[in-house]
Amino acid sequence: MSMHRPTDISTADPAAAAPLAQKDGTAGQRSWYDDDIKYVAGVGEMRARLLFKELGIATVGELLYCFPFRYIDRSRIYRIVEIDASGSSLVQFRGRVTGVAYAGTGRKRRFSAFVSDGTGQAELVWFQGIKWIEKRIEVGREYLIFGRPSSFRNELSLVHPEIETVEKALSRRIESGLQGIYSSTERLSSVLGAKGFHTIVCNAWRLAHTRIAETLPDGMRRRYGLVSLHDALYNIHFPQSSEALRQAQYRLKFEELLGVQLNVLARRATRLSKNNGFLFPHVGEVFNTFYREKLPFPLTEAQKRVVREIRQDTVTGYQMNRLLQGDVGSGKTLVALLSMLLAVDNGFQACMMAPTEILARQHYATLTRLLEGLPVRVAILTGASKARERKSALGGIASGDVQLLVGTHALIEDRVQFRNLGLVVIDEQHRFGVEQRARMWTKNEQPPHVLVMTATPIPRTLAMTLYGDLDVSVIDELPPGRRPVQTVHYTDAMRLRVWGFLRKQIAQGRQVYIVYPLIEESEAMDYKNLQEGYEAISRDFPLPEYVTEVVHGRMKPQDKEEAMRRFKSGEAQLLVATSVIEVGVDVPNATVMVIESAERFGLSQLHQLRGRVGRGAQQSYCILMSGEKLSKESRARLDAMCETNDGFRLAELDLKLRGAGDLAGTQQSGMAFDLKIANPTLDVQILERTRDAAGEVLAADPTLAAAEHAGLRQLKKRYSGEKSIDFSMIS
Ligand code: ADP
Ligand code: MG
Repeated sequence: MSMHRPTDISTADPAAAAPLAQKDGTAGQRSWYDDDIKYVAGVGEMRARLLFKELGIATVGELLYCFPFRYIDRSRIYRIVEIDASGSSLVQFRGRVTGVAYAGTGRKRRFSAFVSDGTGQAELVWFQGIKWIEKRIEVGREYLIFGRPSSFRNELSLVHPEIETVEKALSRRIESGLQGIYSSTERLSSVLGAKGFHTIVCNAWRLAHTRIAETLPDGMRRRYGLVSLHDALYNIHFPQSSEALRQAQYRLKFEELLGVQLNVLARRATRLSKNNGFLFPHVGEVFNTFYREKLPFPLTEAQKRVVREIRQDTVTGYQMNRLLQGDVGSGKTLVALLSMLLAVDNGFQACMMAPTEILARQHYATLTRLLEGLPVRVAILTGASKARERKSALGGIASGDVQLLVGTHALIEDRVQFRNLGLVVIDEQHRFGVEQRARMWTKNEQPPHVLVMTATPIPRTLAMTLYGDLDVSVIDELPPGRRPVQTVHYTDAMRLRVWGFLRKQIAQGRQVYIVYPLIEESEAMDYKNLQEGYEAISRDFPLPEYVTEVVHGRMKPQDKEEAMRRFKSGEAQLLVATSVIEVGVDVPNATVMVIESAERFGLSQLHQLRGRVGRGAQQSYCILMSGEKLSKESRARLDAMCETNDGFRLAELDLKLRGAGDLAGTQQSGMAFDLKIANPTLDVQILERTRDAAGEVLAADPTLAAAEHAGLRQLKKRYSGEKSIDFSMIS
């Protein structure tokens, strides 16, 4: 078995290939980037479908932009005695075969080769391909062996290692020794094999490398010291040295962040050039009456500041596009309400969109209660709205009788016809796609102002640069009298004590949440998880005198609502739920949040859940339950939760723990594009440079029409994040 080496590739001289590359990636020709992946050697129809399904890769470009997530150093050769069998990293060593053995029969058959290098011994094991491997292993010969060490009955062993005779290994040109490791999915690896992905990347490179067109103008490359795209793609996959790899990474990060910046800045320029924002010049009757007579408590300074910022935005003549960040419980709802009243005072309608049914209903209840006695009509529209509710909302909105509409995504999906929509508030926008949806409104001839609210904080500079074309307001102050939630992490062994604690809290009149993880792939499992938990609670924690409600994703909306209502009103003391209650739910009397299998939640989700308590004046608690055995990363997350209540710090830490790749794909960031290599928190410097570079280019050539900007034009399109918007819905 030969180790995989793209030998003919590594000798291909990038400089020699360069003259063949197209100067302009468009020029009416199909770009290399869009070549169908199925034509790459070793792919074909079936694997092409699989690559698309598993990783979303359909073209050669998308494949070559799928970068290794780490590299291993294959120049290092260990001595057997040095190998840590409990370590998780791959190792390479030399060993002479001292004997072979067969064991088992049929499907359980296995073949072993024993090797030694004078410092120690190892067993190499194969369960598959035995016929093939046994012919290639010769007792007495020395091999170079590469694989993942493990220990079996206290002996070092490697399952399915790559092996190659030492002569052959030495005859190969010694290169940097760095080999990329790609992330894959289980299905994909089972079809392609361990090295299969690498092979396909090699073949794709062969097919495309003479045609790779540069995306960045020469001047920009010189100025920022960027290697060519050709060299960068080559070295990111097949690093010739660690320095070449570093330069490739810098170039590709730059390109990626530049693609994002071009979009952000262009959108902003368009918005500011239009000067077609609605004007809210009056602070009138409704706002003032509410402020003087209905406000349940004085606003915090931070809330006042944000209301002022919104007022300023709405008198400029430009359309407002503002992101309001405020930690959980900081009082964003009230700010939203005041902004909506501004719209009403100026003769406009406003709507407020929430990510879940529960949250929409809660907002509706809050708004109706707060506005009682004022001449403002509020309606609600969700996917679960019955015919009557729907008809009255749609009718009232079209005629203008209803000024405020609260709802879920149904607000967009139903193509609600407003009489004169002046402001859109989007609450808890940390779910993918909402920002894109907001943009749909901005395509209106005269777009409403948009206020996006989130408790999932991302660092301010990052928000400004990445979130799209948004100004940022921050509520950095909690209402007075709040006590920080005390957070502890317990394992199952402490369960009885936890129950005891809950009992005490309930006896003092408090309420308790117990949350189980939602298993996204399987609602059935999710439900089972919750159901078992609920049964365990009823068994171990018999509280016949108290009422427990259950809420999960599979319930009918009315049942969910009824259960929530009983918990809110205090009729029920315990709420057992999946993370459907993650966002926004406001029950100030609840003081304990128990999170089961806490290790299965992301950091921002944990923080959101914790935000459900600590909303009143009582001391509140968050109890993170987990098993004994935790990965390093899970432990770091739980420790961070116990250490701090500061959502911004947690968000930063989260980005670091998870890295860019995950950040991009995550449903929590709300970003409209994929980042494959840059990590905006760690690559702040590059981010700033790309902002400058994008600004300069756009100042000189706002539409990127110049021939030398053809590559940038494509780059901009690639990172526009608009692929998934259905434009037919905008009219
Ligand atoms: P979030 O920012 O997480 O959406 P909410 O708007 O739900 O927070 O507010 C959290 C709780 O704080 C609510 O019960 C709300 O009534 C209360 N609240 C909001 N503003 C103030 C304030 N200025 N003073 C006291 N309590 C406030
Ligand atoms: Mg809220």
